[in-house]
Amino acid sequence: MRRKLVVGNWKMNGNRAANAELLAALKAAGPWAAEVAVCVPSPYLGDVALSLQGDGIGWGAQDCSAFESGAYTGEVSALMLAEFGCRYVLVGHSERRAYHAESDQLVADKAKTALAHRITPIVCVGETLAEREAGHTDAVVKRQLSAVIHTLAHCISQIVVAYEPVWAIGTGKTATPEQAQAVHALLRAQLGAATAHAGEMKILYGGSAKADNAAALFAQPDIDGGLVGGASLKAAEFAAICRAAG
Ligand code: PEP
Repeated sequence: MRRKLVVGNWKMNGNRAANAELLAALKAAGPWAAEVAVCVPSPYLGDVALSLQGDGIGWGAQDCSAFESGAYTGEVSALMLAEFGCRYVLVGHSERRAYHAESDQLVADKAKTALAHRITPIVCVGETLAEREAGHTDAVVKRQLSAVIHTLAHCISQIVVAYEPVWAIGTGKTATPEQAQAVHALLRAQLGAATAHAGEMKILYGGSAKADNAAALFAQPDIDGGLVGGASLKAAEFAAICRAAG
């Protein structure tokens, strides 16, 4: 059986005092049966690593460079993230794809670099509302995942996938458990054509997940936990989502 995983995506939120408060409340609320991690803004990784060391809650970053090092002003390398003990890094979040024009291939290259430094990439895929309404959901997510499958080849089983319909992110609109399950099953079948380990891989749902809808989503056979944005900034709400995954 796959152990559930719940990952908080703080996005570009927080400050040192508020982060310390949030983490203290989270540590007090745990542990959970599910694995739990937070992906935080890079400047806070040192603080977060110190705070969470030995507590069972993992941490990670929200992006990494596809390059090892060099003249890439503003970028953060996977090697740097590894130095801070990151277990995870998000790649291909829809906000990065939309605001930084990240291509499917760049996302795949980032995933490859993360794995080279023993950081698990959480590869985000998902369709926009226009794509869903045009009936293109399956084709879009398959195209996004396909680039990663081809780039990682036999290492594909080492990633986590997050299905995040763009129309559900930060909008308060959640995919129904059935809508999400249909896409998760499709993604697992696609992974299954590439690796014998698809049944052990985690596919997370993200998009306005909250304490009151998490249990129904996590009850679906191919939903292995959640990638949680807004609700991960509220300790009690995030802790309840982690509990729902238990
Ligand atoms: C996200 O940013 O990954 C996300 C799922 O956001 P929210 O939960 O706020 O919709």
